[in-house]
Amino acid sequence: MTNKLNIKDLSWEDLNTLTQQLELPKFRAEQIWRGLYQHLAISSEEMKLIPKVQRDLLDKNYRFNSFQSYKKFVSIDGSVKFLFELWDGEKVEAVYMPWHDEEGKLERATICVSSQIGCGLDCKFCATGTMGLTRNLKASEIIDQIITCEKDLGITLTNIVFMGMGEPLLNFNNVMKSIENLSGGPFKKFRRKRITVSTSGVIPGIRKLAELQPPVKLALSLHATTNGARDKIIPLNQKSGGLNPLLLEIEKYYRKTKMPLTYEYIPFKGLNDTEQDAKRLAKIAKRVPSRVNLIPFNDISFTEPTGISASLRPVDDKKMNEFVNQIKSFGGVAIVRDTFGSDIDAACGQLALSEKESTENE
Ligand code: SF4
Repeated sequence: MTNKLNIKDLSWEDLNTLTQQLELPKFRAEQIWRGLYQHLAISSEEMKLIPKVQRDLLDKNYRFNSFQSYKKFVSIDGSVKFLFELWDGEKVEAVYMPWHDEEGKLERATICVSSQIGCGLDCKFCATGTMGLTRNLKASEIIDQIITCEKDLGITLTNIVFMGMGEPLLNFNNVMKSIENLSGGPFKKFRRKRITVSTSGVIPGIRKLAELQPPVKLALSLHATTNGARDKIIPLNQKSGGLNPLLLEIEKYYRKTKMPLTYEYIPFKGLNDTEQDAKRLAKIAKRVPSRVNLIPFNDISFTEPTGISASLRPVDDKKMNEFVNQIKSFGGVAIVRDTFGSDIDAACGQLALSEKESTENE
């Protein structure tokens, strides 16, 4: 383990200050930035344009990679799940998802990144929620999920979704810094409108996120249209005052940013899958330009759930199609989202949790 800072935790301004302090020529800052974000350097030796003596200066105080190792799991559908081991031995996941058009041409190359190790929000349908929160990820630890994925697979990603382990808006500063570094400086790796932050409904975080210019896209893990049902599966709902203040904040986000919203919704058998649910969902979705993504439930029975978690069941395909058509008939825009990696432990937190358990049992 090393206590050195990761160089990707520096902003563009910080990097300029550093090169001044080290008395390096001014243009080195841009070379280093491009080395990190354009050429995906994970060691100083890879930055051949920088003289060795200057690379040694950087190496003295900074490291270039967040992970001591990683494993990857390739699915038959083309998605790839990465399990990274950080310098403190903690594990975190990211998933690469290739989206193709009807002719089979690659349309989007998306990565779903994690923002925390574990999560403290305890949503009842989520494997990560059973782990509790260990710690926030640093900006560099988020950025390196993306850099490592691109480097390993030899691809250029087009989209980022903060929808992996953790609640991104409860690690606000690090998530913002990662977004700023990935979309700023002399090499803008991603456009902001290709970045989506997904939240379970952290109202103060949504308010702060709306201040970001240019803005990013926002997705809300809604999963229920009544407080009764949402309280059961997302404990944060009750703690933050229920659906009304949340939906008002979402509307304000749209008014401020003009970014269309996404509502994520897992229909569970007998809990939130009635025609009335579809009607309420369409009504919510029509408040501002938005789309409902219906997500098939990923089984988390390997976590040996108790209470409400143990009673959650997926709807079958027929019900899913009926539900999507009901939302459309009430005027909402809705799709059933493709699922990726069902053969490689796709549920969020599933790999990290099974690895954690197997290491604990060693
Ligand atoms: S769904 Fe997201 S916010 Fe909820 S417990 Fe899982 S990781 Fe945390």
